[in-house]
Amino acid sequence: MIIILKKNPEEKQLTNLMAWLNSMNISIHPTEGQTHTILGLVGDTSHVDIDLLRALDIVEDVKRVQEPYKNANRKFHEDDTIVKVGDTQVGGDVFSVIAGPCSIETEEQICEVAEAVKRSGATMLRGGAFKPRTSPYAFQGLRGHGLELLLKAKKLTGLPVVTEIMDLSQLSLFDEVDVIQVGARNMQNFELLKELGHTGKPILIKRGLSSTLQELLMSAEYVMAGGNDNVILCERGIRTFETATRNTLDLSCVPMLKKLTHLPVIIDPSHATGISWMVKPMAMAATACGADGLMIEVHNDPKKALCDGAQSLTPAAFDDVMQAVNAILPHAYKMPKEA
Ligand code: PEP
Ligand code: MN
Repeated sequence: MIIILKKNPEEKQLTNLMAWLNSMNISIHPTEGQTHTILGLVGDTSHVDIDLLRALDIVEDVKRVQEPYKNANRKFHEDDTIVKVGDTQVGGDVFSVIAGPCSIETEEQICEVAEAVKRSGATMLRGGAFKPRTSPYAFQGLRGHGLELLLKAKKLTGLPVVTEIMDLSQLSLFDEVDVIQVGARNMQNFELLKELGHTGKPILIKRGLSSTLQELLMSAEYVMAGGNDNVILCERGIRTFETATRNTLDLSCVPMLKKLTHLPVIIDPSHATGISWMVKPMAMAATACGADGLMIEVHNDPKKALCDGAQSLTPAAFDDVMQAVNAILPHAYKMPKEA
């Protein structure tokens, strides 16, 4: 529930209102806008008499919040969230580009790719150590050893690293990982999300294969409810009837998520399309419609990649994408602030 106060509310009445709400175990999150102050009420508001509130002198309006997510909701947090990662950030003025191979394969591979993507302007390095593969017979990732190699590449380049956790039992290995990724298949692993809520680390949540935006936001809410506000959302294509591309990239999620939430939104055109030549146009489109960043798979020798070679860019192709994206950035769509 949200209470919109009249301009310059009388202080005594405001104190009484707050005390009354607190007495019902409702916590109050005030946000001062340019003209009005709004009070975000968190807790069970089902027993609050909305008509009684509306009748108060200091109250302009009261709205019941339909969305079941509070922490992730733009209504309670007008300003964009900026997630700090090492010396960089996701959200705000920085356009984040997370690039690297689908899977960490060898020290040479991850270090070579890391240096190349850094040269082209990537802000973070990705690489999977624990791989969620559809077939149990496919390459499952180098697991703990993969993480060690990823950290070597981090040391070499200074790039913060992003890698996927598949199970809670792996968490102790992630101490030096900068951003923990929750993959599409684990988006609704609620026990995992709850635990990540206690880490304080940036958590990148990928949209589930058939998840609605509300479900994605509820997953973010799980992490945030544990006290961790460092959440990054990532659209990576959803399942539709179309088979020409690996998934269907739902770019309309960018402005919609920006409206619904203050969390940063990035786009993964690699998993969304599954086709390397489609990564550039979709990366450009994602940039144009206001995404906060991109996640792009880059391999030093895509034809020999152990995973997702068909969608992986060579370092040269990645450099070309970066130039195209940088040319678009100054013209990218920005959500107008709500009146
Ligand atoms: C990945 O980023 O390596 C990955 C497996 O992506 P997704 O969870 O989106 O399939
Ligand atoms: Mn991949």
